[in-house]
Amino acid sequence: MTKPVLIVGGGPAGLSAAQALAAAGQKVEIVEKEDQLGGAPILSGYAKLVPSGEWAKDAIGGMVSRVEGEKLVTVHKGVTVKKFSGEPGAFAAELSDGKKIDAAATILATGFTHFDSINKPEWGFGTYPDVVTTTQVEQMLSSGAGVKCPSDGREPERVAILLCVGSRDRQIGRTWCSKICCTVSANIAMEIRESLPNCNVYIYYMDIRTFGLYEDNYYWDSQEKFKVKYIKARIAEVTSDGKRLIVKGEDTLVKRPITIPFDMVVHAVGMDPNVDNMTLSAIFDVKLHHHGYIDKASTYASMSGTSRPGVFVAGAATGPETIDDSIAQGQAAAMAALAVARPALEAAE
Ligand SMILES: Cc1cc2nc3c(=O)[nH]c(=O)nc-3n(C[C@H](O)[C@H](O)[C@H](O)COP(=O)(O)OP(=O)(O)OC[C@H]3O[C@@H](n4cnc5c(N)ncnc54)[C@H](O)[C@@H]3O)c2cc1C
Ligand code: SF4
Repeated sequence: MTKPVLIVGGGPAGLSAAQALAAAGQKVEIVEKEDQLGGAPILSGYAKLVPSGEWAKDAIGGMVSRVEGEKLVTVHKGVTVKKFSGEPGAFAAELSDGKKIDAAATILATGFTHFDSINKPEWGFGTYPDVVTTTQVEQMLSSGAGVKCPSDGREPERVAILLCVGSRDRQIGRTWCSKICCTVSANIAMEIRESLPNCNVYIYYMDIRTFGLYEDNYYWDSQEKFKVKYIKARIAEVTSDGKRLIVKGEDTLVKRPITIPFDMVVHAVGMDPNVDNMTLSAIFDVKLHHHGYIDKASTYASMSGTSRPGVFVAGAATGPETIDDSIAQGQAAAMAALAVARPALEAAE
């Protein structure tokens, strides 16, 4: 039988690649560094996903169970690839637990790292406990605990969501747009309004990028059906008067300074390159994009190729991506990997 395809990373992209390869009768070995598959939506405890409205634990949890139930898929959890050598059709990988895997092709589906808001200290994260991130609010919603101020457990009456935290920010070297955080923030704002009808929710933005079909269900519905208020502003700092958080900045439509009190401030954090990318680049000998994501060899010829033949890439490892695009890229990478693995099969027969 042909050698397996090695998939590094078991998030939505890696899971979809594994599922597609198994459906084509191809053996797969997944190497996931955490003790659980599912990637960011499971590991970070996301709540209801956009655009489906399905709970992450059901939607992505379903992908995990399907892959874990596949006879052709072997999963290695809590390990990483330490050494990697060879050529298309004949790669050899050594894992951190000493296991060795011979693989026909490899897919890097190693995803992203959430921006750490500590790197934006003027916006209060790490100083004031009621300044939180979108991932923390996702966890409050998905755990059933409800949205509460971490400082004293009270339900907030006024929440500010600050967009583009760790994205589109030249001061901290992150010029990219993280694509999904406007839509995720509108979704979170609606969920807060639904669970706490007396809570006023404000979204502070530079531009709103609820792209494509998300405009109706998120941008307009959040305002018209859920009374979420949008303020175009440049935020200077988040401080406290001892009782409430104070958001200071400039309303850029009327060009006037604003100083507004809130109970909770939410950072809509962006998608940084995976902190492991330098190591992955060295081990797999693949080039990185100048922002630190894994570079794609070509945009149109084969969207999954890296600088190394036989090593493919999919999902947020390549840059900020949505879940559905990561899944599509996982399937595309599976097809590309299969084209390398199949000649090996034919040669073996
Ligand atoms: C707050 C927030 C909310 C979001 N909500 C949505 C939403 O509702 N809908 C939507 O479409 N998108 C959403 N996204 C985007 C979504 O998280 C990504 O599209 C998706 O997680 C990308 O999947 P992936 O498999 O490429 O990467 P990941 O989900 O990051 O998975 C990568 C996997 O690889 C593993 N890994 C990493 N490095 C290594 C290594 N060196 N060795 C082995 N394994 C490794 C990781 O542990 C992880 O399991 C959101 C993003 C944020 C920041
Ligand atoms: S999607 Fe919206 S919040 Fe996210 S970086 Fe782009 S503009 Fe900013």
